[in-house]
Amino acid sequence: MSENSNEITAWDRDHFFHPSTHMGMHARGETPTRVMAGGEGVYVTDVSGRTSLDAFAGLYCVNVGYGRQKISDAIAEQAKNLAYYHAYVGHGTEASITLSKMIIDRAPKGMSRVYFGLSGSDANETNIKLIWYYNNILGRPEKKKIISRWRGYHGSGVMTGSLTGLELFHNLFDLPRPPIFHTEAPYYFRRADRSMSEEQFSQHCADKLEEMILAEGPDTIAAFIGEPILGTGGIVPPPQGYWQKIQAVLEKYDILLVADEVVTGFGRLGSMFGSDHYGIKPDLITIAKGLTSAYAPLSGSIVSDKVWQVLVQGSDKMGAIGHGWTYSAHPICAAAGVANLELVDELGLVENAGSTGTYFRSELAKAVAGHRHVGDVRGDGLMAAVEFVEDKNDRVFFDPAKKIGPQVSAALLERGVIGRAMPQGDILGFAPPLCLTREEADTVVRATAAAIEAVL
Ligand code: PLP
Repeated sequence: MSENSNEITAWDRDHFFHPSTHMGMHARGETPTRVMAGGEGVYVTDVSGRTSLDAFAGLYCVNVGYGRQKISDAIAEQAKNLAYYHAYVGHGTEASITLSKMIIDRAPKGMSRVYFGLSGSDANETNIKLIWYYNNILGRPEKKKIISRWRGYHGSGVMTGSLTGLELFHNLFDLPRPPIFHTEAPYYFRRADRSMSEEQFSQHCADKLEEMILAEGPDTIAAFIGEPILGTGGIVPPPQGYWQKIQAVLEKYDILLVADEVVTGFGRLGSMFGSDHYGIKPDLITIAKGLTSAYAPLSGSIVSDKVWQVLVQGSDKMGAIGHGWTYSAHPICAAAGVANLELVDELGLVENAGSTGTYFRSELAKAVAGHRHVGDVRGDGLMAAVEFVEDKNDRVFFDPAKKIGPQVSAALLERGVIGRAMPQGDILGFAPPLCLTREEADTVVRATAAAIEAVL
């Protein structure tokens, strides 16, 4: 530990307002401060020299792993040559223009343009505005409501926090819920009747969606937003047939589909996009994390040709679009994005996410699924979750006050591995860097089995 570590800890407790942190406990010193200092591959090291295997890639974002010089060199070069220029009224840089081409080249069919932001939250704010603008241009001023899902996560801004279907993100904030509505979470393990097949549960979710659309009036519903696989809401893959059935309903009522690929974009499921992975045909796609592997903040709204054509009509009628961020297409972030996407290709990380992901999840299931308090082991690509239950036969869940998920993740950390206690339910989540090797996957599995034994 460096000499001034006590001072750093005191400054942290007194001045640093941390996101998603128990404010009082942290300020009183009842929760640990971990000051991170370095990273290499899948490992991170704190200032005391303690190293951990980061099996959540930061916040499922450091997809290429830590310490990639190709990206830090690209950032340094761009900062030296031109640290900033804006993207308003047709300006750009080679980095931002190149990156937009690289994104569209990799995106699902039918995508046309990228609007850059800095976070997943602001990209979803952009999406909402574009959707409203789109329907105004089409002469449908009533068609403005957005449907998202319970347990969906789409950010924590005023609008995007409302899209997010986790109560923790609403409580005490008085967020403007209307015109945002939440429909059934595609969470087979918790929400389906035991008698239902996955296919039947998917039909139930599609029926619930249609019921909501009919109750509100189809002419008032503009869009549906969903993550291809639920992330922060518990790492829950869609049940069999889910997206096909949902899309059939959306098409019937002319409702736009936004695929929030902030986590799944650029390879996490073993396909470049989750939309391709599950046969989703979105009208807009949200991207962030894997776009730069978090070496610099950057996000984007990818707009389909269908939406773009209408937006162009809007400019012809109204002039320039009144929506812009100072840092949209920031050149340093764009340079990081170009180097990052090149690296994803050079290292074959999309393929590795598929093959090592399959290996990791199958070893994890072999090691822990038989435990009496493990109710479900699930995932796809390099996303996995272990859900704990009090009684597995009757699917009785633990009292949340027992904080089983946080206890297991703390025990895992003691064994040198970072997993994430997901914010709702007793769920331990994994989303390691896409460069994870089989040996590293084995380390995670061994530590997880030992942590579960220690707590449960
Ligand atoms: N959408 C999804 C699917 C996410 O997982 C996240 C963050 O985890 C966001 C949006 C919000 O992104 P940000 O935290 O960059 O605002």
